[in-house]
Amino acid sequence: MRKAVGLAVAVGAAAAMVAGCSSPQAVQTPPAGQSTVGSVQGRPEPDAPPPPQFAQPYQFGTPQGHVPPTVDGKAPVVRKIQTDKPYVFITMDDGAIKDPSALQLIKDSGAKPTLFLNEKYFKGHEAYFKAIQDQAGVEIDDHTMTHPNLRGKPYEAQKKEICGDADAIAAAFGKRPLLFRPPFGNYDANTQKAVTDCGMKAIVLWTAAVNDGVVQFQSGDKLKPGDIVLMHFRTTFVEDFRAFLARAKQDGVTPVPLSDFLQ
Ligand SMILES: [Zn+2]
Repeated sequence: MRKAVGLAVAVGAAAAMVAGCSSPQAVQTPPAGQSTVGSVQGRPEPDAPPPPQFAQPYQFGTPQGHVPPTVDGKAPVVRKIQTDKPYVFITMDDGAIKDPSALQLIKDSGAKPTLFLNEKYFKGHEAYFKAIQDQAGVEIDDHTMTHPNLRGKPYEAQKKEICGDADAIAAAFGKRPLLFRPPFGNYDANTQKAVTDCGMKAIVLWTAAVNDGVVQFQSGDKLKPGDIVLMHFRTTFVEDFRAFLARAKQDGVTPVPLSDFLQ
C-alpha cells in the first residue's frame, strides 16, 4: 500500500522566530542536534486512504469537560486542558493566507481544529472558511476584528473589537463563538470582562506552537496530554500542519476538539 504520509526532514538547531500572533512568552526551540520532524515529502493521492489513525480512539461531539467558572464577570483563562488522556488540541489563527489545500488536509487528518479568526481576514473569504467549517467539522471562534494588542486598552475599545468579531462570525458562519483568543496572547482584566460581556465563556491561550514547520514547546520536548497547540493560516500552512500531525503521532497523542472539553 502506498504510504500517504512520509516522514521527514530533521530540523535541528533551526531557531524559528516566533511570529504572527504567537505570544511574546518564550517558546523554546528544540535543543541543538535534536531531531524534530519538520516537513513532509509528497502529498497524498486524491483517492489515497486516510492517514493512519491516532493512538487513542475518540468519539467526536462527546462532552468531556467544562470551562472554569466566570468570577466577578471575568472570563477564565485556559492555557492547558485538564485531562489524563493522551489528547491534544490544535488551533489555527488569524486566517491571513487561504491555502487551497487546507480543507482536504484537515479533512484527511481526522483532527478537528479550532479556528480563531479575525474579521479583517475572513471578510470577503467566508466561503473558504465555511467549507472548512461544514466539511471538516471545525469550530470558528473569536480573535478580534483587526488583531490589535488589547492589553492596556480601555474597556470600550476592547469590547468593540471582541464583540464585533463575535457578531461577524455569527453572521458569516451561523454560530456565535464561545471562546476567545487574544492577539499575541496579551490580555488584561478589561479583556476578561469584555469576553464575558460579549457572550463568551473563556480565553484560550496555548502551550506549544508550530512555526516554519517546527513544533515548539513552552516546556519539555514533546507534546503532552492537554497541550493546546497554536499555528496560523500562513504560507507555511501545509508544513506546519503536517509537522503537528507527525509530532502528535510520534508522541502518542490524539488531536481532539477543544469544544468538547470547554462546554
Ligand atoms: Zn493572531
